[in-house]
Amino acid sequence: MSTTPPIPSSAEAPRRSALRSLDEALAALLDGLSPVCAAASETVPTADALGRVLAADVVSLLDVPPADNTSMDGYAMRAADVPREGTVLPVSQRIPAGVVGEPLQPGSAARIFTGAQVPAGADAVVMQEVCEALPDGTVRINQVPAPGQWVRRRAEDVARGAVVLAAGTRLTPAALGLAASVGAATLAVARRPRVAVFSTGDELVMPGEVAPEAMRPGAIYNSNRYTLRGLLQALGCEVDDLGIVPDRREATRAALREAAAGHDLIVTSGGVSAGEEDHLKPAVEAEGRLSLWQVAMKPGKPLAFGAVRRPDGAGEAAFIGLPGNPVSVFVTFLLTVRPLLLALQGVPAVQAARLPALPLPAGFDWPRPDRRREFVRARVGEDGRVQLFPNQSSGVLTSAVWAEGLVDIAAGQAIAAGETVRFIPLAALN
Ligand code: AMP
Ligand code: MG
Repeated sequence: MSTTPPIPSSAEAPRRSALRSLDEALAALLDGLSPVCAAASETVPTADALGRVLAADVVSLLDVPPADNTSMDGYAMRAADVPREGTVLPVSQRIPAGVVGEPLQPGSAARIFTGAQVPAGADAVVMQEVCEALPDGTVRINQVPAPGQWVRRRAEDVARGAVVLAAGTRLTPAALGLAASVGAATLAVARRPRVAVFSTGDELVMPGEVAPEAMRPGAIYNSNRYTLRGLLQALGCEVDDLGIVPDRREATRAALREAAAGHDLIVTSGGVSAGEEDHLKPAVEAEGRLSLWQVAMKPGKPLAFGAVRRPDGAGEAAFIGLPGNPVSVFVTFLLTVRPLLLALQGVPAVQAARLPALPLPAGFDWPRPDRRREFVRARVGEDGRVQLFPNQSSGVLTSAVWAEGLVDIAAGQAIAAGETVRFIPLAALN
């Protein structure tokens, strides 16, 4: 006969809400983290540095643009020489891009082409569409120019000596262009993080090793391995995949020891809940230390953070144990592993943990909020309102492919359609 479970006493109730918040967990994770990848920087061609994190400031040794130049094809002149529409001036010279003209003769105009340096003495450009070149070598100017018109000022983009990109900046295509614009052919960047991954679960089999029709009852394909590898590669990591580790304590400990050697970070999936078949937590405690377990977020409650000793006594590798459910892996990676990887490369903690949320109107009702902060798979509809994927179960990977973003719903926050919600575009977490 089973006995009736005791009714939880009020003294037990606060324990449920004593879970660490995501923000607290992230602060604990990033505080005092040593940016080991930034400390070991390497020099790479600027053209190959996309997605890397700068290890040193990029300082400009020149002004950009180096001199005043025209942003239009047209005529350069002194604005004061054209007091009214239809003024005719002699054309005293022709200045294509890359050629430096003579100082402008007073009372004349210079034919000039986009990007060419504005001659000394000229202070405005009139675009060719409002000018008429006359057969006698003069030009009629059918517009009264304002001083400075169509002139790109020397140093208006970058002044000599300025830090154009600061150490700790993750390099976007635009940042690479800016580095090139000040002549940087190579950049000092943090070395790539070295990450070991393994999946836990006796139910897991690999695509290609077992055909769908040959699956034993209870088996599922290991999808997390692919998701994790892709997420890590997209962040520029060197990934060592240690495969599937069985649900046994010793095997888990051995895998952790192997993973710690030569890696900055160990990322695992599954086996981190409170069940008898979940061995990661005690295994990490035995092979290193667990600094945090369980976070008040959904999906992703059974997250674990810690560190594993390296067998050679060479310090320790950071450890993040992600839950097993495929959507939990996807979401918790973006919210915890990504900031950690950026911080290891020297991105400042506040920036690494920043969630670039947009305020958008909800196209849904959320009447029964959870006690945990939720990250819900969503899209922006044609009407500009946020739509939710109908099945938010953490096992439904379809939702993560459908989604263009996550709605960040605070603990206990009920939402009515039309209210503003925080929408985090997935593209901003690349
Ligand atoms: P666990 O956290 O180990 O209890 O796993 C939670 C759920 O995620 C279970 O339904 C597992 O079967 C599933 N799961 C665990 N690991 C994987 C994986 N690598 N690929 C797909 N599903 C997984
Ligand atoms: Mg498991």
